[in-house]
Amino acid sequence: MAAAPRIGAVPWSGFAPCEAIFFDLDDTLIDFDGGIDECWQAVCAEAAGPGAGFSARELRAAITRVAGFYWSDPERHRIGRADLMAATRAIVGEALDGLGASNEALAAQLAARYRTLRDDGLVLYPGAVELLDELISAGHTLGVITNGEAALQRAKLERFNLIGYFTYVGIEGEAGVGKPDAEAYWRALQSLGCAPADSWMIGDNLEWDVLGPQRLGLRTVWIDRHARGLPENTTARPDHITKSVAELAAAQR
Ligand SMILES: [Mg+2]
Repeated sequence: MAAAPRIGAVPWSGFAPCEAIFFDLDDTLIDFDGGIDECWQAVCAEAAGPGAGFSARELRAAITRVAGFYWSDPERHRIGRADLMAATRAIVGEALDGLGASNEALAAQLAARYRTLRDDGLVLYPGAVELLDELISAGHTLGVITNGEAALQRAKLERFNLIGYFTYVGIEGEAGVGKPDAEAYWRALQSLGCAPADSWMIGDNLEWDVLGPQRLGLRTVWIDRHARGLPENTTARPDHITKSVAELAAAQR
């Protein structure tokens, strides 16, 4: 199980036998954020036009501004991801307000269209299934710890046939607790009867998938999709850094 260390990571020798491995879902196994730009552009193009009072470009810029502010606050983020449709409606509504084109019905319509496009565009990352298969074959027990709405997260697990891989499924909307709350990881560990030192968390979010588990003594793999490296001001110390689950799957062979 030799694995090539990446720049910024300590040398890594892979997972030891019998260790439990917990996965994040969105932007780790599933490409969740990949379609954001295209989906907003399509929605804004459909909404703009003669008589709309704004151009597609103006609406897109307004939504980017409002969404950036909205999702930047951890508490607003927590509330927003518990009801993505409502959060999207609020963001579009505020963007329309800013353009002097207030219209609640239009905001609801555009939000619904956007969420449908986002959902339609979801795909599993290449290598995701291969990695899960390889880890199961190697005798690991797997779990998933994911933030977000109960129905949406469970639907994704079922749609992509992932549910059967996971002995533990921790969904924020079902559990009532989410990452990076320590309780979210403790429940996962207790469910599988695993000690933190014998467990890993793999994910793309430094706060949720590295810092949170790290505080409890789990080891972590950070998915640094854009190869940006660790920010200078972070105390996150992933045990391994990789660009993708495909790269991680290749490292298992
Ligand atoms: Mg994620």
